[in-house]
Amino acid sequence: MPAFDSERIAFEPDRVAIPCAHFIAGRRVEGEGRLPVARPSDGRVYAELPEAGEVGVDEAVSDASRAFRCGDWWRQAPRERGRILRRWADLIEADVDELAKLEALGSSRPVEQARDWDVPYTAEGIRFFAEFADKHGGEVAATAASSLGMQIAEPMGVVAAIAPWNFPLAMTCWKIAPALAAGNSVVLKPSELTPFSAVRLAQLAIRAGMPPGVFNLVQGSGPVTGEALCRHPQIDKVTFTGSTATGRRIMTACAETGPRPVTLELGGKSPQLVFADIPDLDRTARTLARAITGNAGQVCVAGSRLVIERSLLAPMVERLMAEFASLAPGPTWQSGSPFSPIISSVQLDRIAATVGRARDAGAEVLCGGERFSPQQEGGGCFYRPTLLAIGERDNPAIAEEIFGPVLTVQTFENEEEALALAEHEVYGLAAGVHTADLSRALRVVRRLSAGTVWVNRYGRSHDYILPTGGYKCSGIGRDLGRAAFEANLRHKSVLIDIAS
Ligand code: NAD
Repeated sequence: MPAFDSERIAFEPDRVAIPCAHFIAGRRVEGEGRLPVARPSDGRVYAELPEAGEVGVDEAVSDASRAFRCGDWWRQAPRERGRILRRWADLIEADVDELAKLEALGSSRPVEQARDWDVPYTAEGIRFFAEFADKHGGEVAATAASSLGMQIAEPMGVVAAIAPWNFPLAMTCWKIAPALAAGNSVVLKPSELTPFSAVRLAQLAIRAGMPPGVFNLVQGSGPVTGEALCRHPQIDKVTFTGSTATGRRIMTACAETGPRPVTLELGGKSPQLVFADIPDLDRTARTLARAITGNAGQVCVAGSRLVIERSLLAPMVERLMAEFASLAPGPTWQSGSPFSPIISSVQLDRIAATVGRARDAGAEVLCGGERFSPQQEGGGCFYRPTLLAIGERDNPAIAEEIFGPVLTVQTFENEEEALALAEHEVYGLAAGVHTADLSRALRVVRRLSAGTVWVNRYGRSHDYILPTGGYKCSGIGRDLGRAAFEANLRHKSVLIDIAS
């Protein structure tokens, strides 16, 4: 496939004008460049993104719908579907260098991390869901002496998948892999800030043998392309990862034009509860630091609220400040996994403004609380890892998801107080519990309102088997695990008269 190979992109910081495209009916579709895409590492505009409006979205959805109706994907032997998905995962792994470059190019993901984690994790996710393709069945029941009932599981049809920018490949995989394994056709809209790696993913899917039209991709902004996609009458389900505010809009669109089902993975404000009996202060400090500085805190489950037993406050703050000080920012193409940039200047301003309001409301800045100076770092969007001591509960740094490297600190004297501080009015995505007392850990786990709780560790690595999702306004439905696969199926009941 010469066209494919000629699209390889040199990863050169000085190179500009990277081509970007939609992907419809099994091929790249170039569109007129409309939206400038800037690199967060140095602020330079390096691409212009085409934007699909109602017409472009209709073309992609109609194609996906045609592919679904013709049944090449979902009516074929499920084992064959699984085989194609596994081949796709193999091709992704074999393409790791190129995909990692594309992933890192305009995102917050350092290229080495993209190579060592994002790309292999994406391939593994596709393999995980491929296993379900031929391992689900329906149910048969004798409903009465004269009849037999069957429940048949079928794909939903055309699934719209809308992805965020923070881990472009991995989050896209969470959305599309279970939908495709269940036999659906998919129309993906990547984030307008990180549009590149998904195109490559689509090209590799065709190479793996996926029928054209089963996986389409449209580029563009949320209000134009995303909204048109969610409102298209031939969409049977929307699966979305992003902010809670956008999730509400998508649910409204799906209600007004349907109702149609949604899976929503939304924002978080996750607490880290640290009790004084932790056996290794240094180790816990490293875990807490990583949980808020990884990807510069631009992680839905970032451990952004430290709730710590008072006697540990001073030694823990000292260690966290040392961990934070050791992080060196750098462009995503630099080797050695530098501290990540903030995705855009808009998001950087938002972080700075929230920290400013938090300070005005009485938060004490223990460290950070400012941008890394552009002169010092050679430009780009970087924010210093920040520790904020919070007295009043209703501080904006507690109430709002900041989505940056900002950790608030609150103290408690006993378990009840810890639980009261951990509870958030809006979010319930994840939490961490750090204690040597297993009974206490389990007691606390049972009382936390969170879709995922980590005990004496923090963060997700390769555990696809466990579903992930939110309580409260952090989401509806689950990604990962069998639950994510089943959420892409619908069930048909059949009654058969067997009276003689
Ligand atoms: P976002 O909500 O701004 O955008 C996400 C996607 O939605 C983008 O592709 C965007 O173009 C699209 N979009 C925006 N408006 C839309 C509309 N009206 N209709 C349809 N689509 C629209 O979120 P983001 O800034 O890209 O990502 C950060 C957010 O994502 C954070 O809140 C984070 O917590 C959340 N997130 C959650 C999870 C999870 O698993 N719960 C994982 C990663 C990120």
